[in-house]
Amino acid sequence: MTAAMIETHEVANQVPPLEGYDAYGADPWLRAAVARAKVPWIEGQAHGLGVYVGSPEAQHHAVLANRYTPELRTHDATGHRIDTVAYHPSYHVLMNRAFSAGVHSLAWKCQPGGFSGRAALFYLWNQLEQGTACPVTMTFASIAVLDQAPALAREWRAKVLADAYDPRPEPVARKSGATIGMAMTEKQGGSDLRAVATVAVPDGSTWRLTGHKWFCSAPMSDGFFTLARLPEGVTCFFVPRSLPDGTRNAFLIQRLKDKVGNRSNASSEIEYRDTFAQLVGEPGRGIATLISMAHHTRFDIVVGVAAMMRAALNQALHHACHRSAFGKELADHPLMANVLADLALEAEAATLLAFRLAAAFDASQADAGERELQRALTPVAKYWLCKRMAAVAAEAMECLGGNGYVEESPLARLYREAPLNGIWEGSANVICLDALRAFSRSPEAIGAIESEVSAGSDPRLARRLGGAMRALRDPVSAEAQARAILESLALCVQGSLMKRHSDARAAETFCSSRLGEGARAFGALELDAAALKALALRARLGTS
Ligand SMILES: Cc1cc2nc3c(=O)[nH]c(=O)nc-3n(C[C@H](O)[C@H](O)[C@H](O)COP(=O)(O)OP(=O)(O)OC[C@H]3O[C@@H](n4cnc5c(N)ncnc54)[C@H](O)[C@@H]3O)c2cc1C
Repeated sequence: MTAAMIETHEVANQVPPLEGYDAYGADPWLRAAVARAKVPWIEGQAHGLGVYVGSPEAQHHAVLANRYTPELRTHDATGHRIDTVAYHPSYHVLMNRAFSAGVHSLAWKCQPGGFSGRAALFYLWNQLEQGTACPVTMTFASIAVLDQAPALAREWRAKVLADAYDPRPEPVARKSGATIGMAMTEKQGGSDLRAVATVAVPDGSTWRLTGHKWFCSAPMSDGFFTLARLPEGVTCFFVPRSLPDGTRNAFLIQRLKDKVGNRSNASSEIEYRDTFAQLVGEPGRGIATLISMAHHTRFDIVVGVAAMMRAALNQALHHACHRSAFGKELADHPLMANVLADLALEAEAATLLAFRLAAAFDASQADAGERELQRALTPVAKYWLCKRMAAVAAEAMECLGGNGYVEESPLARLYREAPLNGIWEGSANVICLDALRAFSRSPEAIGAIESEVSAGSDPRLARRLGGAMRALRDPVSAEAQARAILESLALCVQGSLMKRHSDARAAETFCSSRLGEGARAFGALELDAAALKALALRARLGTS
């Protein structure tokens, strides 16, 4: 017997990588969202970024930036503290691409429709890499606080909005662009920020901080919004990394977290030791001052998670349309088609919800109803999409079989990333309780959701919404039922959006499968095999 006859390495029935496509041009949902938002001016940039996101080069950078994780360098060779994080070059390539494309800035610079146009770019970016999305989001959201602090804004706003990535640790005046982080969480409590123990003392017209922060992501950012205690209560401050004379501020990075996912992005523990800081907002109003930043990061999480669902679905569909088992393509097996169709409904409804929210942000200056909707819908959408993401990632991974569970698969990174958005910027329970408080303070907020849902009225929507409203009005049980209430509100808005903007069968199947009672797994849709396959394949990218 010759060696050729016992060759075992013939590769058959393996799936080519999903690459070399325009993630904007190939995506009918995203193009429809841009058309509905009436932001045709974003199309050129979206095609450019879409081609990059779909390119093998960009995907390779995403893999490398996550495989070769950031390293902390606390001291130089001669023992001086440097508190620097060294990243793989691919991280810098990605940061440069995101910031030079204006993924952080465009909402504040292009009106009307800036939030929707930017959401299209952020949706694309989150299909590529989520570690870099963290500093992009914080820098984007920082404008909401900078705009309340005129002196700080004069020094920082233009640099934050510059479409440039400049990682040098230099004073802001010498930089071509600046990135912003936030450091609030301490060891004793992240949700309950009233427990902040870091203290601030006056130093002329500025302040000195001493204390620790248990989580501080992107610690190489140029400045941080942070919280410290004054006699008046917890107060917001701004800490620049470099001082105007070019020396480093006392920003001691103690450790990097060894995280489950989000590995390209450093998350650190830091100490302030007599650290220079500027006051932001009124003493004692720190948590209220930072609310606007948190609100914008929550919005970004909604867009980012919808995009991650899209990315997971793309991989599952691509695989099932190229791999055969038991004599035919996986996508031709009715039960696989059921799973794919169900995942497609989930990702489409998430995308509709994200872009409806973006439109409400865009319209909220001029329209009080849209302002209320934007306020009310942000925590609802953040809660529900984050809850669904982990299930979507696991199910999409399973569609790839064993190949989904190895590190070379893009699903591995998405799976590890999936729970994170549910934890930061308000974990699920905290988000639900925040939403209940907002609804009780402002009946207009819940009214805005009601009118959004009734725009696409249906008895199932009315029943589910009515149940949520009754639960909300019951002061005894509302807190314990907060998750169920937010789930119902999110599903009703999604159902209504599907009825208005998707095709009739997809909308009907979304409503019939999700507006009833009880828990369910993906792949339990009650349709015939041909309908399931059609529903799955209508979600395929244009070129895959
Ligand atoms: C990768 C990563 C990066 C991060 N980066 C940053 C950063 O850059 N800056 C920053 O400031 N923080 C950051 N964080 C911290 C994050 O914001 C906190 O972990 C989060 O706010 C939760 O706080 P905690 O960890 O102290 O948990 P806890 O506050 O102890 O909460 C634990 C659990 O209890 C629940 N809970 C709390 N209160 C209630 C209640 N009243 N009723 C019912 N349930 C409740 C919460 O929902 C949560 O599930 C990061 C976290 C991670 C994982």
